This record gives sequence, C-alpha cells and structure tokens, in this order.
Amino acid sequence: MGNEAVRSVFVGSDALGSFSFSEDHPFKPERIGLVKKMCSERGLLSGRDIAIEEVEEGEPGVLERFHTPEYIDALRRADSGMDVDVDMLHHGIGSPENPIFKGVYRFCELSAAASLTAARRVSSGSLTAFNPCGGFHHAHPDRASGFCYVNDVVIAIDELRANGLRTAYIDIDAHHGDAVQETYYSGNEVLTISMHESGKTLFPWSGFEREMGKGDGGGFNINLPLEPDTDDEIFLHIFGKVVIDALALFAPDVVVLLAGADMLSTDPLTHLRLTNNGYIEAVKMMHEHHPRIVALGGGGYNMNDAVRAWTLLWAELSGQTLEEGYGGALGGVFLGDASLQGSDLKDMRSYTSGPVKEKLENGAEMLIAHYREAIRPKLSS
Ligand SMILES: [Zn+2]
Repeated sequence: MGNEAVRSVFVGSDALGSFSFSEDHPFKPERIGLVKKMCSERGLLSGRDIAIEEVEEGEPGVLERFHTPEYIDALRRADSGMDVDVDMLHHGIGSPENPIFKGVYRFCELSAAASLTAARRVSSGSLTAFNPCGGFHHAHPDRASGFCYVNDVVIAIDELRANGLRTAYIDIDAHHGDAVQETYYSGNEVLTISMHESGKTLFPWSGFEREMGKGDGGGFNINLPLEPDTDDEIFLHIFGKVVIDALALFAPDVVVLLAGADMLSTDPLTHLRLTNNGYIEAVKMMHEHHPRIVALGGGGYNMNDAVRAWTLLWAELSGQTLEEGYGGALGGVFLGDASLQGSDLKDMRSYTSGPVKEKLENGAEMLIAHYREAIRPKLSS
C-alpha cells in the first residue's frame, strides 16, 4: 500500500442525490444521499482509515472511454429534459424505462466519474472503495437500457486493468449483467460472473448458464441464473461452490463487485427471496479472500432496504463493526437466533421451504455440476 492511501474510500456526490428520473420511476437517486446519511449516523464515515471523496464535477472524456460519439451526443441533447427526438429513441433514450429528465447527461457523467474515482483510489493503494451511485450494467456503447445510460462498470474495470491489475467482476444484482458480459465475452483477461434471477422470469431475459464466453474467453464468463424464491441458503451455497472457487482459480488482484440490493425479498421488481443476511454473508466470504474491492451500487428498488443493505456493505468493506444495541436484542428474544443480534440493520432470517425448496436445491446442484464439468476445466488449464 502507498503511504498516504487510506484503507477505504466512500465515493459520494451530494449533487447525484438531487436528480429525479420521474415521479413514478422505480430508480430513485435520492437513496444515494440516504446511504451516506445512514453510514454517517452509525459512525461509519469518520474513522482514521476512511476517506469520503466527493465527486461534484464530471471529467472530460469519461464517457468516451466506452460510449460512441453519436450516443454521447444524443445523451447531451437529452440533458434539458425537454424534447425527445427520433435519434434519442434510436439510442434507447426517452422511453418510459430510460426517460429523459433535466440533467440526465450530468447525472451520467457524475456517476461515471465517481466509479472511475473509486477505481483510481484502489489502483493507488486503498483496499476498498464504494460508489453507491454506480453499477449501471445494462448500458451498451450506443444504447441505454434497463435504467442504465452509461456503463460506469466497464469504465472502472478498464481503469483497473490499465493500471496493471488483474480484475474479476462479480455481479450479484438480481438482473443479469448483460452489457458487461458482452464487453469481455471473447477475452480471458477479465473473469465475469453474474448471479441473478433467471432470464426466464426477469429482464434482460439473458444470462443462461450456456453463455460461457467464446474463443479465448471460453469459461471466463459464468452465469448463475436463480429461480424465483431463491433464499439465503441456496444463494450462499452456490456462491461458495462456484464464485469463491472460480475466484481462487483466476486469482485476481482486485474484484469489482456489483452490489445491487434487488435480490432482497422485499424488492418490488424481482422474485428472489434473500434477506440482507445472505447478501452480506456472501460479501464477507469473498472479502476474506479478496481484500481489494471496488464496489458499485446497482439496483435496489425498496429504498429503505437498499439503504440498509449498503450500510452493512460499507461496514464490511471498511472493516468496521456495527455498534450493538440497535434493537439487536429483539432478534435474540423473539427468535433465539444469536446471529441476529448485532444491529437493527439486519433483516429477520427467512427461508423458502417444502417442495419449492427441494426444487431449488436440485437446481442449485445442477448449476454447480455444470460449473465443475463445463467451466472449471477451462479456468484451471
Ligand atoms: Zn437489478
């Protein structure tokens, strides 16, 4: 580590939280400010080994790192939030899913700059960095998709690689990380793993296990599609047997984690049944073996639950323990589960059961077997 680098960097931007896609759009930039507020209230932003980096300005050329000039032009024209033209629509901008709104270009430029900043800080010696307003994994070079206009994820990964760091991408957002997969599909330099609700039931309708990379990239793209009702146990079982194993084989210097919180059971857009216990235990398991992590927010459409999950995430990434006493006793008294004690940020544990659970268990074993037979040999050769 460099002498001056702090351990962990929280990348924020007060400006980002003030944008609005539209009144009834599920993506609420407002949650960015709320994560920072909750982390601050819990005393998680004040340690000696922690820095808060505010990104209030875009950076010339940041979007050009991934997007086409024509697309950037269309996005710039959309910034007034006034009129949609045919060319914007051609680029996916101006649909109900990716509406134009006042400041959309600035919002995109700032969020990309924030992820780039996170990548730079980890490149120059910090162990972890978190940009809650990042993780727009559906944005294509010339097309907006799924609430994503610019792909800050690829911009961050490429910055780490440019700094000589071997990089793996782990995406646990409930949606398949399609545009990131597409970017690295034919190469073996970036290991990409996406764990998401199956494309049979959720946008972007892709991310099946047979999509394994091609050419030199064969085996370096792993998809772990999950059936509706997948709970913490199933999720952690697959995560341990596949994600942790593949990471050990690939041996990255740094992991880019797309830490979406929309796999939680309370998310209004998805059908998985995790609690934030499973979410944070997966992150912990990975963090134990891989100390350098750039984490990007991603989805999470139950705002309060996304904010709690990301507060737990930040505590883990920055090596801080949450203070006890925040209602932790409730869990102990009512449920007799010691692991629930610690803070009110943790959800009550809840599991799928019966025939549904059995089906999920069988599905999980099939995914793990597929990994061992079809992918693992390529990764370890
Ligand atoms: Zn998502």
